[in-house]
Amino acid sequence: MRAVVYAGPRDFSVSEVPDRRAAAGEVVIDVALAGVCGTDLHIHSGGFFAEFPLTPGHESVGVVREVGAGVHHLERGQRVAVDNASACGHCPHCVRDQPLFCENFRSLGVNEAGGFAESMVSPAHKVFAVDDLADDVAVFAEPLACAVHGMDVLALRPGADVLMLGSGTTGLLLAQLLVHGGAGRVTVAAPTEFKLALASSYGVDRVVQVNRDAGQTYQVLRDLSPEGFDVAIDATGASSVVQILPDLVADNGTVFVYGMCDADDRVQWSPYDIFRRQLHVKSARG
Ligand SMILES: [Zn+2]
Ligand SMILES: [Zn+2]
Repeated sequence: MRAVVYAGPRDFSVSEVPDRRAAAGEVVIDVALAGVCGTDLHIHSGGFFAEFPLTPGHESVGVVREVGAGVHHLERGQRVAVDNASACGHCPHCVRDQPLFCENFRSLGVNEAGGFAESMVSPAHKVFAVDDLADDVAVFAEPLACAVHGMDVLALRPGADVLMLGSGTTGLLLAQLLVHGGAGRVTVAAPTEFKLALASSYGVDRVVQVNRDAGQTYQVLRDLSPEGFDVAIDATGASSVVQILPDLVADNGTVFVYGMCDADDRVQWSPYDIFRRQLHVKSARG
């Protein structure tokens, strides 16, 4: 079969690779669609615990082609979505029921072969029937799960006044959950007009077109809400945006680092200010 194969960071080709078979507890899936997200950009550059050689693709939907021994909840021909992440179940984090921080975390498309291929292999218990969802909807199962986790961590107070900077795919999924998850008002600020139009069509209360200059963006948003928002979310992964978040929230407000910055990025916040204004800093990984 053909697959995108990275020999190393930034070094990829479409290559012929051996067809894989399903071992016990696994399934082989013919991939129909595989999403690309910001994480793939980090992986492209060798970041986010990528292991090479690698076939990326962590947002996959397709059809079960082969079912390994001991798999009873899936059958050939079934349309499915894949949860790419698996925890070991026995490391200190796993036994504390925090599998997200598993020391032996395996992630299809990050440190094991993923969905940028004609077919992929997955542990069967991480594969879910999508029933009558169309492929181009079901392919959002993984990023939507990330957004749901974001909502869990955020633990939004009902009626909160929420600002989100950025309007990429995952951000727009989160925005919809915010709208339906108890926010009193959701404002999305981003540079790209058609994405803001999408945000509006999804029920976001207010969209603000800003440029990519964080200083100017700060001024526009500060003028919009001089007292500050209850929650300010970075959905861009740009540290220049994360930098301005504390100054955009009200006292006792929450800064939510939702996008993924580069590992070497830094911001400068005043710890005194964080203390004095009792700010909360949260993030949601995966
Ligand atoms: Zn993703
Ligand atoms: Zn573990």
